[in-house]
Amino acid sequence: RSAPPSTLVIFGASGDLTRRKLIPAVASLARHGRLPKEFALVGVARTPMSDDEFAQSIQAENGLGDLAGGGLRYVSGGYDDPETYKTLATLLDELDDQRGTRGNRLFYLSTPPQAFSPIINGLAGAGLNHARSDEGFARLVIEKPYGTDLNSARQLDATVHSAFDESQVFRIDHYLGKDTVQNVLALRFANSIFQPIWDRSWVDSVQITVAETLGVGTRGSFYETAGAMRDIVQNHVLQVLALALMEPPASFGAEALRNEKVKLLQAIRLPTDRDVSEIAVRGQYTRGGTREELMPGYRDEPGVDPLSRTETYAALRLDVDNWRWAGVPFYVRTGKRLPARVTEVALTFQRPPHLPIPGNQLTELEADALILRIQPNEGISLRFGAKVPGHSFRVRTASMDFSYDQTFREESPEAYERLILDALLGDATLFIRADEVEHSWRIVDPIIEHWANDKSPIPTYEAASWGPTDADRLIGRHGRAWRNPA
Ligand code: NAP
Repeated sequence: RSAPPSTLVIFGASGDLTRRKLIPAVASLARHGRLPKEFALVGVARTPMSDDEFAQSIQAENGLGDLAGGGLRYVSGGYDDPETYKTLATLLDELDDQRGTRGNRLFYLSTPPQAFSPIINGLAGAGLNHARSDEGFARLVIEKPYGTDLNSARQLDATVHSAFDESQVFRIDHYLGKDTVQNVLALRFANSIFQPIWDRSWVDSVQITVAETLGVGTRGSFYETAGAMRDIVQNHVLQVLALALMEPPASFGAEALRNEKVKLLQAIRLPTDRDVSEIAVRGQYTRGGTREELMPGYRDEPGVDPLSRTETYAALRLDVDNWRWAGVPFYVRTGKRLPARVTEVALTFQRPPHLPIPGNQLTELEADALILRIQPNEGISLRFGAKVPGHSFRVRTASMDFSYDQTFREESPEAYERLILDALLGDATLFIRADEVEHSWRIVDPIIEHWANDKSPIPTYEAASWGPTDADRLIGRHGRAWRNPA
């Protein structure tokens, strides 16, 4: 697979994401021969820079070799200034003539979300929302966050759809670009052995963990406007959940797959204000760690209100009201400053209906579990009971482990590399459709709203601990406990 002749236009090109992720992704595509020579990259931002200064700022000498000969350009201008888009349109036509990029344009919005609507309107004002010819394309990639609640997401959609058809729109959730997230699909739908046990008859409960060891770092003032629900649950957690629980799609085509995700999201029971305290727990980290590495509390981080009530941890119990999953609890949790960096989906299976082994010989036996490790130590583990060698019949938990590193020689591409190539190729399978965004906000909005109105002190947890004790009570209510993924 390699990209067609095209120009990638990055808005917010002076920013952090461009330098850290997008440019390295393009460089890697170039290195692996996945970009044609008829390719150009244009950066757009307000910061005044020449083409050369832009090239320097993104260290273009590292792997963007081919682009250096006139294919790397920069436009400086305001996002709401029509002149910016006129200049851009002229430049894009020029590149089509000089480099043969054939009028194919991918506009990547990598600015803070305030600039999304002005940019979309600006592109439309200059006619750049339409393909230049019948064969060409004009596509829009939009970074997260996509709105801050259902209403703002709908407003953004109204702007997007006033200029672009949904088929031109590629909403990013970079989790979907990870091989291990796509492997959830491979595991479920390229094998027959898991499908029969993938339902309420066999699964006792499911836990999804997205744990970070880092705090908010320099992103304090951004995080104050987000919190764990908006930053992680609304997008990454619900996407992984949807892939893990949806019905088998007839194909991995963009519409077939996204239809199934939407159906699953629609089947998640919407929290009501009344039951939020039963199904959701929030927390905020306080100073903690070890004597060697003492970590500041969230309220002491730069850019954070010393009286902040923003949650840095969230745990939820979700229910999926359909035939496959009725009655199975889904526990999800995410947090900053937890003891381990780990993202995993763990299915715990029901205990055997009858045990022909005396109970006291089973003390070391946990329920069978299938653990999909999204990151790090990417792979899959199946845990089951095995007989301990010896004369007595003791059973202990053993594990069969598949590790990406050990099984495959191929390296995983970075998520952004995969996603940029897909967008250039017009494959929207791993991008979020408008209705998915809406349903995800419907699920998290009532919880965020309930917390905003709840004036009681926000529960806390020490940095480097597994979250507030309320979270243990949440899962403990039905006799279960959080897994220790370490
Ligand atoms: P950033 O560095 O704050 O912003 C990118 C560029 O946008 C800046 O260099 C700036 O360029 C321009 N900009 C900044 N504030 C603006 C404002 N209020 N209005 C208009 N333009 C503004 O952001 P980023 O970290 O690169 O992230 C870009 C997008 O990706 C954001 O939507 C972010 O949420 C998303 N994202 C980022 C990461 C990450 O790791 N950084 C991860 C996931 C998603 P000029 O001043 O030169 O115009």
